Amino acid sequence: MRALMERSLRVATEYRGCLICHVLDRDESDFMAELQYRTIKEEKVRQDVVSSKGYCNFHFHQMARMASPVGNAILTKDLIDAEIKEIEKGSFGPTLRIDCPICKYADEREESHVREFRALLSEESFQKEYEATDGLCRIHLKRILNLPQEGELHQFMLASHLMHLNLLKVQLETFISKMRSTRDFKEEKDSWWVAIEKMVGKRGLKK
Ligand SMILES: [Zn+2]
Ligand SMILES: [Zn+2]
Repeated sequence: MRALMERSLRVATEYRGCLICHVLDRDESDFMAELQYRTIKEEKVRQDVVSSKGYCNFHFHQMARMASPVGNAILTKDLIDAEIKEIEKGSFGPTLRIDCPICKYADEREESHVREFRALLSEESFQKEYEATDGLCRIHLKRILNLPQEGELHQFMLASHLMHLNLLKVQLETFISKMRSTRDFKEEKDSWWVAIEKMVGKRGLKK
């Protein structure tokens, strides 16, 4: 695969929601767009996807929405051909193991963003920038807390998480009361999805 642009968490501080989820989602979308295009144009790339047994449920449905109907037909036909061959050779086993290439890429990127976040945390200017964001989802917060680090950074992460939760709670309360009256929304307009992301991370994020 052609090297895709490597995003830094530094660019994510102006967006709402979890920083790591945000950058990861954009990495994943770029990768899927590129892969989708190449599986149709390049036999070799398509055969790699076929030998991985296609994509996981989540990514297959996402890829299907990005691809054209004929693109979906070309890939699924090759997957079916491979399965027919397996049955004919007698190698069709009861266990289904899908090595989803998008999950694999996303795992690598996530690992790298967690490491980058940890490195950025040692900069005081980044700590200030981070405080002004919505913070991390609890999945990524736990990933950071599980890294070996000094007690001071651990304290900083917990204190800022608590602050982010309290701010979000106020936004949710404002949103709920405005829904019942004025509907003149400000930043609380997005509070409900920021809150959902805080609980479970971005759509499709695995623990
Ligand atoms: Zn996250
Ligand atoms: Zn997947």
